[in-house]
This record gives sequence, C-alpha cells and structure tokens, in this order.
Amino acid sequence: MYFNFQSCQFEEKTTRPNKLALIGSDGEKSWNEVSQLVGQITQAIESLSLKKGYPIFIYGHKETAFPISILACLSANHPFVPIDKLYPTERINEIQEETNSSVFIDCTGTLSGKNKTFIQVIGDKVIVENGEIRESWVPVYDQNPLAYILFTSGSTGKPKGVLIRQSSILDLVKWVKSDAFRMSEQDVFVNQSPFSFDVSLFDTFASFTYGASMILVSQELSKNSDEFFKVLRNYKATFWTSTPAFIYMYLRESWFNSFSLKHLRSFVFAGEPLPISTCESLYDNFSNPNIYNAYGPTEATVITTLLKVEKELFSSSSSLPIGYSKPESKMITEKSEATRKTPSELIIIGENVAEGYLNRPEETKEKFFQIDGKKAYKTGDLGFIEEGLIYCLGRNDNQIKLNGYRIELDEINEKLLGYPFINESRTIGLKRQDKVVRIVCMIQSDEVLDMASLKENLLLVLPHYMVPSDFLQINAFPTNQSGKID
Ligand code: AMP
Repeated sequence: MYFNFQSCQFEEKTTRPNKLALIGSDGEKSWNEVSQLVGQITQAIESLSLKKGYPIFIYGHKETAFPISILACLSANHPFVPIDKLYPTERINEIQEETNSSVFIDCTGTLSGKNKTFIQVIGDKVIVENGEIRESWVPVYDQNPLAYILFTSGSTGKPKGVLIRQSSILDLVKWVKSDAFRMSEQDVFVNQSPFSFDVSLFDTFASFTYGASMILVSQELSKNSDEFFKVLRNYKATFWTSTPAFIYMYLRESWFNSFSLKHLRSFVFAGEPLPISTCESLYDNFSNPNIYNAYGPTEATVITTLLKVEKELFSSSSSLPIGYSKPESKMITEKSEATRKTPSELIIIGENVAEGYLNRPEETKEKFFQIDGKKAYKTGDLGFIEEGLIYCLGRNDNQIKLNGYRIELDEINEKLLGYPFINESRTIGLKRQDKVVRIVCMIQSDEVLDMASLKENLLLVLPHYMVPSDFLQINAFPTNQSGKID
C-alpha cells in the first residue's frame, strides 16, 4: 500500500496492509490502520462543511496522528498548518491570528476552548468538538489549491506564513520517486525534525510515496540515548534525515555505527551547512554510507539542491557545495559573473517556489517574481555556481541558523522593544569558525534589569531556540558618523 499524492488516495502495491507504517510517541500504526484513520479524519473535516481552501491547524509533536492528519487534510483538499506543541501559547495565537482559522486537529487530546473547533484524534478514535468557525482570510486557489502554510521566523516581529500549493508537493514527490535518493519500499525512515519545519515533510512524503515505514523521533526520545538506540535497532532504521546539528549529538555514541545499527545506510542533511567533519565521522562509523547534502528554503518546498557527498570532495575544498539543482528546477545567481570572492544572491526558479507570504504583499513582492513565465524566489543566500555545482556562502540579511533552526534576529529584537522598559536593543548571532553558536542581546534601559526574568518572559512568547542565551545591559550604544547604532 502507498499514498498517491496525485490522486490523494491510498493505492495497493503490495498485499501487506499489516506492514508497519508509523512508529510514533504513542505506539505503532500499520498501513491498514493509517488508511482507515485518514478516512475517518477526512470525514470529520468534511462534516464541518468548511469553505473551500479553509486552513486547518494540526497540533501535536511526534504522535502517529500528525502525519496521518497531513494526509487527511490533503485528501479533503484543505491546506494544513503544522503547529508543534512545544511552541509557547502566545506564538500559537500569533499564527492563528495570521490565518484567522479556528479549526484544529488535535493529536494530543489536550486542547479545549469554545472559540475553536477541534477534531480530536485519540488512538483510533476521531471526535469532533464543534465550536466557533471563524471566517479565515487565506486566499483560495481553485485550479491548484494550497497544500500547506508553514510559519517561519519573521523579521517584522511575528511569524510569517509561506504558502505552498499542491503542484509544489507533486514536484517534490516526483524527485523523491526518481532514483536520486536510492529509496525503496523496504526503507525505514528516521523522522526527527519537528513538523513545524519542512525538513520533516521530506521523509514523510518519501515514506508515504514508497509505502515504507517511518519512525517519529520525539524530543524526549532523542534525549534518551539508550532508548533512541533501541528504537533505531529494533525497527531496523535505514534512512536518516535531519539537520547536521541533530546528528552531531550521536556521532560519538558507542552505538552509532554499522556494527550496532546494521541497516542504517543513508543520511540526508538539510537546513544548514553540512560540516566536512560530520561526513568524515560517518564514513568512519558506517560502511559505504550514502551521505547527501541537501539545500533549500521553506519558500521552495523543502529542498531544491542535492549533493551526494563522496570522500574525494573532502580534500578538494574546506566547505561542501550544496550540489546540483533538482531536475525540474533551476538555480541562478543574480549577477552572472559571481565567484567565490564576489558571490551574488542565489535565485530559485521552478514549480517548487511558493506562492508568497500570507498577508505580506510587500515582502512577497520583494522576494517572489517571475522569470520567463516561471515562479522565482530570491533566497537571501549568497553564492556562486561552477559548472552547475552550486555553492552557498552565507546570508545577505539578519537571518541566522542556530542548531538548524531558522531565526530572524529582528523578530527577537521586535519582541524586546515591545517591553516599555527597554529603550533600545540589538541582537546578534555570535559566530565561532563561521558558525553561529549563540544569540547575544544588548539592551539599553533606564532601569536595572533582571535578566533572568526577562529571559523567562521571552520564553512565553518565542520558541525556546529563539531566546538569547546572553543578555548584556549597556549604558549607551556606540553610534557611527551618521548617528546610527554602530
Ligand atoms: P529553512 O527555510 O528553515 O529551510 O532555511 C533555509 C535556509 O537555511 C537557506 O536559505 C540557507 O540559508 C540555509 N540552508 C539550508 N540548507 C543548507 C545547506 N545544505 N547548506 C547551507 N545552508 C543551508
């Protein structure tokens, strides 16, 4: 059995409906159970008679119901908005305000409140709790509907929603189906990234496309090394997808090798630069691993370029290129003569490019445009291209990556400036060897600040990974000749 993303239906390929499809924080689900639950949730969505294109929040973490709800939303033709339960309530409210939708699929069975409508998925039961259904203002696209809205950090101080159409998913699925990643029905995917990040959709779509199996790694499981090892070994994990920061935690574990994990052979990394030292460790620990460096912003549907990392690459450069563009898309540099010394902004062209940002016409106009009738997106990444091989060298703005998380430093700053006792603040990503290792914040205030309580306050409004680790109160910011903060 597998999920056909074109027709949004399950189709028989093998006669093994009892094959394991998902292993989540709440137990296992066979393909048969997955298809039944998708049917039940789809029916529950339809029973609400929502208007066309009405977005639906999926709330949870690594429960089996999360990816199942993704399929149900696609089947019912409603865009899904993934929300990780580890987000603070304030951020969830901000995201809800952006879409003005009030329908939640709750995979945790913990949400309640009259001003929302819930589809509770508990075990194999689906219960609808009718409440308010707001008039969402997300635009409706008829011919090619929206598939999902993914919220990333926004420089204006609020998360911004990236609008992805169904054709962009099909574009990704087509690539996944090619032999570029050497996947098969036998694979057991390790899905680690939270569903609020699109890296998690890579193995979700792959596993459902191939009729394979997928282990959902909760934050709790990932922190329990012994338990995590047992899960990977017992379920015979074969295919790992994560940020490089995530695998770093395990490279030195005595069990992280071919000897203990006999079936693990493929590793796809995305979301931030892949250090050569990580690839070297993997080559040391595993026999003939398939290692891939994948690159792509959320605005271009999960990933756009791919590099199969061979050992020969290590000696020829100090950092890895991000590879070649996927077959159906194209990447160019804004200035055609870009080189390593004079890099230029990387531009993505193709069906994988998003529709734009929700409710942000100015930012959409700035970043999204058309080239020869095709969708194009200005990435903000600086790079150059040599014989089709693409290199990404850094950003041209205040967006950083810390432990694989995408963070707009201006969003943190905007939140700080919201406190009346803060006159001025600046937030920077402190780098070591070209990599951001912590977020540092400098504040000017007339009061003596209690930094511990300021941090606690920020944790109520920002995801934990966006809260600066260091705060420094200063008397005055230095200014340059034109009077701006230097
Ligand atoms: P996100 O939207 O969270 O996927 O973040 C996208 C950004 O992460 C890109 O615009 C790059 O700045 C960075 N990024 C993603 N993958 C890679 C990679 N393989 N190498 C270098 N930077 C990357």
